[in-house]
Amino acid sequence: MNAVAQADETALRGAMLAAARQLVALGLNRGASGNIGLRCSDGLLVTPSGLPPETMTPDSMVLLDFDGNTDSEFKPSSEWRIHRDILAARPEIGAVVHAHSTFATTLACQQLEIPPFHYMIAAAGGDTIRCAPYALFGSQALSDAALAALDGRKGCLLAHHGMIALGRDLDDALAIAIEVESLCEQYWRVLQIGTPQILTDAQMRAVIEQFGSYGQWAGKPSS
Ligand code: 13P
Ligand code: ZN
Repeated sequence: MNAVAQADETALRGAMLAAARQLVALGLNRGASGNIGLRCSDGLLVTPSGLPPETMTPDSMVLLDFDGNTDSEFKPSSEWRIHRDILAARPEIGAVVHAHSTFATTLACQQLEIPPFHYMIAAAGGDTIRCAPYALFGSQALSDAALAALDGRKGCLLAHHGMIALGRDLDDALAIAIEVESLCEQYWRVLQIGTPQILTDAQMRAVIEQFGSYGQWAGKPSS
């Protein structure tokens, strides 16, 4: 590896550790639940399996190739296939965040797809946030189900498990994870007071179009 690639990888390892700790600090993950995957020049980096972020160091992040091979002394996240499969299938995506955040998981335990009750549903890429059917954690079946639920989207729920958020980079994926959790809390609250009112297809099409020119990334190739 050349010096620039090495410096990039060192920076990515530090950013992953900070993000894993931030997910705990924000209450989106606790203990060893959840994991992070990041594209890098030699393949992908994933968080180590079964370690709470406070015990991780930048060296515990596991470098994998796209066949799942590694030289690391640490075992990669049990969900490494999810990270590998998403990064392989979605060239516009650079980072994957998986969390067991409370409100997303609560709705996922009812196998609920989140309808367009709020325009910000479009921040996850479409007019719903889908819920992938249940499959065993760490299985290829779960990765396949997640990839299908994420088709054209940047966020989904995993039935009886949690959620996944995607971004062009780690900051973007974290922002989507925070937004998905916030939308799930809002939807959960709306469900307490009656049948939610839902935006129409035309209203959501207009929101999605508006997002195309919204913010600092609009029109950039990776947006
Ligand atoms: P890992 O500690 O192996 O990443 O597993 C946590 C998890 O969330 C499994 O779905
Ligand atoms: Zn999980």
